Amino acid sequence: MGYMDKSLTYIHEAILKGEVTPLELVKEALLLAKEDTNNAFEYICEKEALDAVIKLDASKKNNLLYGIPVVIKDNFSTKDIPTTGSSNILNGYVPVFSSEVVTRLEKEGAIIIAKSTMDELAMGGSGTTGHLGVTYNPWDKDKKHQVGGSSCGSAAAVSAGIVPFALGSDTGDSVRKPASFAALVGLKPTWGRISRFGLFPFATSLDHVAYFTRNVYDSAYILNILAGRDDKDASSSFNKVEDYTANLSNSIKGKKIAVIKGIIDSISDKEVVKSFNVSLSYLKAQGAEVDVVDIDVKLLKAIYPTYIIISCAEATSNNANLDGIKFGNRIEGESFEEVMVKTRTNGFSPLIKRRFVIGSFSLLKENQDELFVRAQKCRRLIVNAFNRVFEKYDAIYCPAAPSIAPLVKGSSNNLSDEYLIADNYMAFANMGGYPSITLPLGFENNMPFGGNLTAKPFQESLLLNIAQAIENGTGLKDLVAKRN
Ligand code: GLN
Repeated sequence: MGYMDKSLTYIHEAILKGEVTPLELVKEALLLAKEDTNNAFEYICEKEALDAVIKLDASKKNNLLYGIPVVIKDNFSTKDIPTTGSSNILNGYVPVFSSEVVTRLEKEGAIIIAKSTMDELAMGGSGTTGHLGVTYNPWDKDKKHQVGGSSCGSAAAVSAGIVPFALGSDTGDSVRKPASFAALVGLKPTWGRISRFGLFPFATSLDHVAYFTRNVYDSAYILNILAGRDDKDASSSFNKVEDYTANLSNSIKGKKIAVIKGIIDSISDKEVVKSFNVSLSYLKAQGAEVDVVDIDVKLLKAIYPTYIIISCAEATSNNANLDGIKFGNRIEGESFEEVMVKTRTNGFSPLIKRRFVIGSFSLLKENQDELFVRAQKCRRLIVNAFNRVFEKYDAIYCPAAPSIAPLVKGSSNNLSDEYLIADNYMAFANMGGYPSITLPLGFENNMPFGGNLTAKPFQESLLLNIAQAIENGTGLKDLVAKRN
């Protein structure tokens, strides 16, 4: 019998009862990872995982993650394990230290079995731009659909039942969007709630550690382990860490939930809207008050362009160290400028170059006021608008995406309202640093889609409590795409 398609609590109890050993679990996950056909992995840590599981401290047996296999997105530094950010410029790079989240997971007894594929350097949302090519959606055996990105490999690994949870990062929606396309729970907590020490920075003011599980309880449990101040990340918060599993089953009676009209109106897929409305009825049946609330559509449409300017500007600066001198595969030249130009020309794909061009252009002295500073002002207006909603409501709830996962071939990014709003609005939660969670809502043509719930900063307990109520209503949890 396999365990990797089960919940964390189930696997944990099986270990405690002596039904299965950590070594057997790790072997199962490694075998499944090796059989993966969705291009989920950059590197399978076979030797490292087998070494680690033998060294496990049996006195930690009661830790929920003791002996549990995990997959880590390839933009988290892992000591002695190759970490490329799915970019050619970092091929062969082996970090000398681990990110704080990896250290915390390992302390709990989790075993890293693989590093996962991603959109190059976490920029992008399709899971098609990493140096190993397209990552496919495990729900589609014909491999026509994306799983979404940028945390594509982690999403594919959890939804294929290779591991029960996996780390990702979320700068615009990179965990919450693929979670929607893969029938997963994807949580991005408050900015500062989890240390980012050792996470390759993309856009520092928007970057969050985030992760995938297959149910809300597991999501809350992982937060108990990852949340908390880390002196190595000055932006991590001193706020008290709660027991995030404690309030999951509280009543949501009287909780106020806002649905944003402009987002729903921009969605053309009736099936998505229908399932979303059904989930609203579950919330109401459990005593929540649900209102449809307006935010100026101009502001909703401004989220994505604002996100692009700010994230590209920050990415340009953050990735300046990938120059062949400090980091990155060096290509020799006559001068240090030539080394940099050759290294970067060769090392980055066109998508990354485009983003650096946008970033540099926005930061140029003569353009800064018109682009970067204006985008910052716009961000403030957007966050103010959402803060006003949060003055009256506990949470904002909308579909996480306007549709099921797009096709790998033929998906076009037009500038329709649907694309600008429903497809990209979730970046508002990065702009405001709000905790935000995606969870499954339904299926169309056997492909999943999800809903997204967002709360005020540091209200993860309430967020997870409402998410649990939705999950109870839909009954959609522990979903695993069937293996071939
Ligand atoms: N899709 C967004 C982008 O293209 C999100 C990326 C992310 O969250 N890392 O940048």
